[in-house]
Amino acid sequence: MKLDFKCCKCGCDKYQVKTTILPEKSPGLKLEFGTYYIKTCLNCGYTEIYSAKIVNMEKHEKPCPQF
Ligand SMILES: [Zn+2]
Repeated sequence: MKLDFKCCKCGCDKYQVKTTILPEKSPGLKLEFGTYYIKTCLNCGYTEIYSAKIVNMEKHEKPCPQF
């Protein structure tokens, strides 16, 4: 997972990543569950959520040397 992070609130680059499952309901479709990455700034607590589906898709298109 490539998630370059610099907190847009305080500029801190220390963070922790956790994974969560969230229900996704699109109109006319059945309920599905999607995986999300939750990044939390360890300095101020600012939190961003990323769709794992999309993050992982980008990884396939543009191979990242770190992984
Ligand atoms: Zn912060």
